[in-house]
Amino acid sequence: MTNLDSLNPVQKQAVLSTDGPVMILAGAGSGKTKTLVTRITYLLEDKNVSPHQLLALTFSNKAAREMRERIAHEVTMDVGSLQITTFHAFCAKLLRSEANFLGLSRNFTIYDDGESKAIAKSLLERRGISTKEINPYDILSYIDGLKNNGYYPGRVMVDGGEADPSDEFFGYFEEYESELHRANALDFGGLITAVIQLFEKFPEVLQRYQNRFVYVLVDEYQDTNRAQFDLIRMLCGKRRNICVVGDEDQSIYSWRGADIRNILDFEKIFPDVTVLKLEQNYRSSKTIIEAASCVIERNTMRKGKHMWTDNPEGDAIEIVECFNDKDEAEFIAQETGKLYKAGTPYKEMAVFYRSNAQARQIEDSLRKYKIQYRVVGGVKFYERKEIKDMLSYLRLVINAKDSLAVSRIINVPARGVGATSLRKLEVEAVNNNTSLWDIIEKIGDHTSEFSHIKLSAKIKSSLTEFVTLINELRHLDQNKVKPSIIYEKVLHESGYYAFLKANKDYETLARLENLDELLNAITQFEESAEVPTLSGFLETITLDSNSDFDEGAKPADGEVSLMTVHGAKGLEFTHAFVVGAEENVFPSYRSVDSGEIAMEEERRLFYVAMTRAMIKLYITFAQGRMLFGQVKFNGPSRFIDEIPEKLFTWKKLKGRQEDHFNQSYSGGGNQKSFDPYDQSQDSHYDNEEVVYQIKESYYQPKFPKGAIVVHSLYGQGKVEDSEGSGADEKVSIKFADGARKKFMVKFAPIVMA
Ligand code: ATP
Ligand code: MG
Repeated sequence: MTNLDSLNPVQKQAVLSTDGPVMILAGAGSGKTKTLVTRITYLLEDKNVSPHQLLALTFSNKAAREMRERIAHEVTMDVGSLQITTFHAFCAKLLRSEANFLGLSRNFTIYDDGESKAIAKSLLERRGISTKEINPYDILSYIDGLKNNGYYPGRVMVDGGEADPSDEFFGYFEEYESELHRANALDFGGLITAVIQLFEKFPEVLQRYQNRFVYVLVDEYQDTNRAQFDLIRMLCGKRRNICVVGDEDQSIYSWRGADIRNILDFEKIFPDVTVLKLEQNYRSSKTIIEAASCVIERNTMRKGKHMWTDNPEGDAIEIVECFNDKDEAEFIAQETGKLYKAGTPYKEMAVFYRSNAQARQIEDSLRKYKIQYRVVGGVKFYERKEIKDMLSYLRLVINAKDSLAVSRIINVPARGVGATSLRKLEVEAVNNNTSLWDIIEKIGDHTSEFSHIKLSAKIKSSLTEFVTLINELRHLDQNKVKPSIIYEKVLHESGYYAFLKANKDYETLARLENLDELLNAITQFEESAEVPTLSGFLETITLDSNSDFDEGAKPADGEVSLMTVHGAKGLEFTHAFVVGAEENVFPSYRSVDSGEIAMEEERRLFYVAMTRAMIKLYITFAQGRMLFGQVKFNGPSRFIDEIPEKLFTWKKLKGRQEDHFNQSYSGGGNQKSFDPYDQSQDSHYDNEEVVYQIKESYYQPKFPKGAIVVHSLYGQGKVEDSEGSGADEKVSIKFADGARKKFMVKFAPIVMA
């Protein structure tokens, strides 16, 4: 029997009202997730529902994992078939079984954002339009918008949101979809819309799933989009045993299409819904709750609710004013060290930042002080070049139609197939409505329809070799050879390993280590997965963007968690640091420029960050911060002003500020604090407050003509031309292989050799 004693009366009611629609709307830390978890254990243990009949959907893999662990701990039965998962993982799994209905094969590839962007770019290229005229992101956000609404080509929408075929971008959407279809691929949004399409076109398939899932539960409901709403609605069918929990004050994904209508319409679609409210917070001290309430109350677009707690008053919030971002990072390292010595395990501490790029500086300091830490999400391990290259090989083994993978590695290592040849092949593929692979597989065969394609005999023969290699690997995979063995084989037989080793670039060692790390990941997967197939591995890593490799090997006291506020949703820590609380950082400069709606979302984000803390909350900001290669003085965040003075202490760090200033900001060397590859950062920075008058040297070019430099992708080269300085500096570099390329210094990963 499930013990309900630890629940308050409303939570208990939520657990016991198992049949019919239930919606819980409640503030942070009020026990929504706890209630959902208890409801599941109650259904399993007391109502004898089979784990197979339950579906619990949540937002991140981390949250899904934690819920599953808690349930496995509470119940006596085997919960192997219990589906606690994210929307995307659920849809991917379902589509693997039903792919044939949609003309896909079950080995389809899932394209991530970077790959979607590559497709958008190639569509532009094909039309001879430069990315300056049309930004590929604009195309993608148009496509995303349609998919977030649940639109697939030809769908008749019940309540508007239809695509307008006369829209300038609609043609791109159609072309993008057929490009993906040819590649036997789906993007993230497409996973959801494909299931909607499947259910609408094949009611008998929907019925099978409706029969199976007797109870459907959704956590973090405020962040679902319209497509996800449609999906839930279909799945719960006539039984309507649906329980959603959420908090509109924590809605932080409207930029990804999260739709507040989902909360409002829930009561319309399910008029007999039981709506429950929880007001008591069990997580945080009185001080933290009062402060967070005062901040969120500034928002006008909210229903409004009163949060209270029985927890102690607790410590004052500590606001820490630092001289610059480096001092801020130093403070965090010192303070976490002190807390640890005083008895707080590292795993109880977390640092939250607005943008991933802020992590680097903090990581450097934590390493310096030998503090155990982990960057949760945003590690971007899988986005590194060498990892993407190897994964492309592996993806081809599973799905040869994956044209993006083909074009990525067809000439890596060099096989003499340059950009022009590749282009020729791609045009043939489009004209013949077939995949790139189909062309290269047949090109060496004189009798095939593609033998007319004009490429040198040498290129044709190296393409044939490439095809042979992939076919051999496929043969191994089909004969159930372990993924790790296939990986090692591809690494060496493709010539990739030798190619990297021969490269004397300063990053070679790190790249080789990363390739080892990939092998570790595959091996770990083999040890833990029920059926350790190569396709299983690829799926896990595409969907689990939060996955870190060494999940199992945590140090005894755990690690300080570093993450974006978006990634922190649902989690709790005794000690939390919200860093970079400056105007134009948090709130982000975009939101500062974009009016009240964006600012309210930013405020909800700040509220989410504050309410993660149980015992003590630190909020830090820097007087000056290096942003996009320039020092900015933005002043403390408006959200700090919104906290009543009686709830905080204000500490201004003293110290060797002049030294730090010189080290950090005197130009040259390690200037960039922001990651040039982070899409969340913009290339311009409109809202300049004060541009610091620094030494003359700052305005001199960083890479003058004649300098020998190293670019992290292209290797060593010589600066042939240099114009501008500071944020405007541009250089023209001639690389060792003779190629000439032009870069904006502030974005390019270039250092002096
Ligand atoms: P968030 O909005 O941040 O996701 P939540 O509403 O999901 O928060 P939970 O994470 O479920 O809240 O609970 C917050 C904390 O309060 C947890 O540590 C949980 O164990 C505790 N808690 C919840 N309900 C109770 C209760 N009735 N008695 C004691 N502790 C509780
Ligand atoms: Mg929760």
